[in-house]
Amino acid sequence: MAVSPKPAVLGEPPRLDSIAALAKRRGFVYPSSEIYGGLNGFWDYGPLGVALRNNLKRAWWYSMVESRDDVVGLDSAIILNPAVWQASGHTQRFTDPMADCQECRRRWRADDLPSPDVCPACGGQLGEVRQFNTMFSTHVGPVADESARAFLRPETAQGIFINFANVLDSSRQKIPFGIAQIGRSFRNEITTGNFIFRVREFEQLEMEYFVRPGDDDRWWQYWIDQRLGWWHAIGIREDSLTVRRHEPSELSHYSKQTADIEFRFPFGVKELEGIADRTDFDLKAHTAASGRDLTYFDEESGQRYTPWVIEPAAGLERAFLAVLCDAYAEEQTGPKPSEIRTVLRFAPRMAPYKAAVFPLVANKPELHQRARSIYETLRPQFATAWDQRGNVGKRYRSQDEIGTPWCITVDYQTLEEGTVTVRDRDTMQQERVHESELADLFLSRLREPSG
Ligand code: ATP
Repeated sequence: MAVSPKPAVLGEPPRLDSIAALAKRRGFVYPSSEIYGGLNGFWDYGPLGVALRNNLKRAWWYSMVESRDDVVGLDSAIILNPAVWQASGHTQRFTDPMADCQECRRRWRADDLPSPDVCPACGGQLGEVRQFNTMFSTHVGPVADESARAFLRPETAQGIFINFANVLDSSRQKIPFGIAQIGRSFRNEITTGNFIFRVREFEQLEMEYFVRPGDDDRWWQYWIDQRLGWWHAIGIREDSLTVRRHEPSELSHYSKQTADIEFRFPFGVKELEGIADRTDFDLKAHTAASGRDLTYFDEESGQRYTPWVIEPAAGLERAFLAVLCDAYAEEQTGPKPSEIRTVLRFAPRMAPYKAAVFPLVANKPELHQRARSIYETLRPQFATAWDQRGNVGKRYRSQDEIGTPWCITVDYQTLEEGTVTVRDRDTMQQERVHESELADLFLSRLREPSG
């Protein structure tokens, strides 16, 4: 069985190229605009990729909004009045240091170079470091002049700050409370890479939690713990994650303190999510620039103040990649060197399909019919796949590769007594279960902490 272009060594950490090859072959991630040679920093998500993205977003939304009294949702526009970015400091300060190679003309992010003056591609001399603003710009309306210039948002957070008073006036929230948003953001990164780790169009999962001045340390720590718990709950192994506090020199212009939740990717330990104490910087900046009062009247203390903000900000593509990397395994399943299976050990709740249904053989109408009826019963409740190609062994391998936790085979015994075999992806064990018990069995497994 072809496992990947360059098979990984069994037992060693997965290689990014094996994961990317599987992701393309099985319909998780494709290079965007591929038939035209692609576009650097942009990716498209196939049938299974979109299912995994939706599962991640649903898990985040449930944990951050639906399961809590103190957080509400928002969906703000991607293009905002350019005054927003002026006030927030992005027009002036949302920059990365950039250096051009004087020989091969390649551009590099200057803070990410092994040697500050030398081009990593050709060894040529690098020129002076300049600040490059990574916001994408466009024009609003038919006239493409400077007065019509606008930006694609580089973060979803500002859409939340400018709606602070709207949410306060139209909901019953009292401080402390949060506003959460999932949405696309765009950054014209100087360099992209490591598959979908650093891209130019991505989706953010952000929440701004408004607290009383002076309460920020406590809430910052609370959100670091909460978020770490969430990453474990979606199936990321504990030893793959670390929390790293930013050095003062690394802090963004608005931050008093930031901690990153980092993941051990095949290419190094890198940021998955940042939890920043944004102080009252943004609300004060928008109050000053817009003239709108964005303070809060605290009925309990009788005081008026500008709230401080704790922001957990995660990226969907990095969550997607971390889940794929942690789930990916190549295992020896028998004595022969060819007996290898590739398996994605997703937590069942993250798996694109929870179950797959097979008739034992394809050409027996009564088996086919019975299997189809089981498939159609499960499908409204669980994302369910159907497969009747090849033999059952091949179908298991194919479902292992996309991380389907349970495979159901309908055989002659099913016709007689209504039982099917349920094969578990991780243990590869089979058990016989009555078809009427399948839904309860899957529901109870999905409810387990590892489910
Ligand atoms: P980095 O240091 O990797 O550039 P950042 O600190 O600038 O990231 P934030 O502004 O804190 O990132 O954004 C919050 C989250 O959004 C990040 O933790 C990451 O998951 C995601 N993110 C940011 N930039 C990108 C990108 N270019 N591609 C994919 N995800 C991104």
